[in-house]
Amino acid sequence: MSYVDEVLERVIAKNPAEPEFHQAVKEVLESLRPVIEANEAKYRKEALLERLTEPDRQFKFRVPWVDDKGQVQVNTGYRVQFNNSIGPYKGGLRLHPSVNLGIIKFLGFEQIFKNSLTGLPIGGGKGGSDFDPKGKSDREVMAFCQSFMTELCKYIGADTDVPAGDIGTGAREIGYMFGQYKKIRSVYEGVLTGKGLSYGGSLARTEATGYGLLYLTEEMLKCNGHDIKDKVICISGSGNVAIYATQKAQQLGAKVVTVSDSTGWVYDPEGIDVALLKEVKEIKRARLTEYAAARPSAQYHEGRGVWTVKCDVALPCATQNELLLEDAKELVANGCIAVAEGANMPTTLEATEYLQENHVLFAPGKAANAGGVATSALEMSQNSERLSWTFEEVDGKLKNIMVNIFHNLDDAAKRYGKEGDYVAGANIAGFEKVADAMIAQGVV
Ligand code: NDP
Repeated sequence: MSYVDEVLERVIAKNPAEPEFHQAVKEVLESLRPVIEANEAKYRKEALLERLTEPDRQFKFRVPWVDDKGQVQVNTGYRVQFNNSIGPYKGGLRLHPSVNLGIIKFLGFEQIFKNSLTGLPIGGGKGGSDFDPKGKSDREVMAFCQSFMTELCKYIGADTDVPAGDIGTGAREIGYMFGQYKKIRSVYEGVLTGKGLSYGGSLARTEATGYGLLYLTEEMLKCNGHDIKDKVICISGSGNVAIYATQKAQQLGAKVVTVSDSTGWVYDPEGIDVALLKEVKEIKRARLTEYAAARPSAQYHEGRGVWTVKCDVALPCATQNELLLEDAKELVANGCIAVAEGANMPTTLEATEYLQENHVLFAPGKAANAGGVATSALEMSQNSERLSWTFEEVDGKLKNIMVNIFHNLDDAAKRYGKEGDYVAGANIAGFEKVADAMIAQGVV
């Protein structure tokens, strides 16, 4: 049996009832087969894959807090410190009822390679809780965050493990957690990223994922003989990633003609009006019907449908599994030349395969949306230096990082005879650096 298959069997046997973790390990190891086969004897002797798929350590803890009625509630907290061979553990805290150990492990495992791809010194970790901030008062959210951090603060630190936001953990939650860390540990340090600008946050973090997505897409198009200028782009979602992807696309001379939310989508052949979109979504927190009502050129449609619009480039920026096989077929039939994932795992496996088989350039989220975590690492640098860089400085570094990410994955794919397969390239480039560091640091 091949080394990859042996390790896959072992992961499933050792981690029962964690299907998401099994899926993530399978996807990564399958695409690494050429590298692993080329180095099989060395990696087997080092038990490299067994070590890589076993977290350094994982914490699971009780989070008791009191709700507004005086009732004690109990949630479960998690932090998985997966791999710190290239830097301190780094990865978000997810607050959502669906959170369990398997989901945190799947996200932490993926984070190792995404963080490695940025070229910055950050290892992989992830955490969270089954707490649901939706519908809770500010006081309840604070009570939960303080209790969560009372335990978590024992395991994290600016040079050890630096958590960030994720689903359910925004600026409010980061603020409450940072306050509690500071109170208990009596140290003012950059232990969390995604902080407010008044207490150590970084300029351009808000824009980073959307802008980074466009910097990588522009480079991918350029290296394949296309210019992003004048391209017609379909974007899904209308949240943080979608809004700033739209803004940067238009700054680069492309025309974005769609956005969506969980109830419907807008087609605006004149090009999305970003100022209006921001007003509707960021200020009024309203539905896209309000955008359509205020913009004569826009048409509103209920339900799904963004990928039926003819475009040159598609950027899924909403949620997981939102670009299905039938959507991929429409995109190909309409002459789409590139898809880059702003969201995490928005394209199903069958849709990805169909796009690649039909020679559509495909940039996976692990690379294409890495601008967010990269800018979090830049926030860590600024905190260590006790300095704040200007917007232009951070944005310039972000652009360099995204251009480098593209070239790293392009080169890695070529080295293993998989030219143009950026999914394999991303996994290989992320893996190689971590594998080298693990071997160099001995059996630890
Ligand atoms: P937001 O919550 O700001 O926006 C999400 C958008 O997607 C909203 O417009 C939402 O609509 C829409 N949406 C949610 N579910 C669906 C659905 N089932 N069908 C259609 N639209 C839907 O999130 P972000 O923009 O921050 O994140 C988007 C994606 O990008 C996520 O996968 C996230 O993990 C990923 N990502 C984000 C990073 C960041 O820095 N923000 C970094 C890296 C990845 P509605 O308003 O109706 O809910």
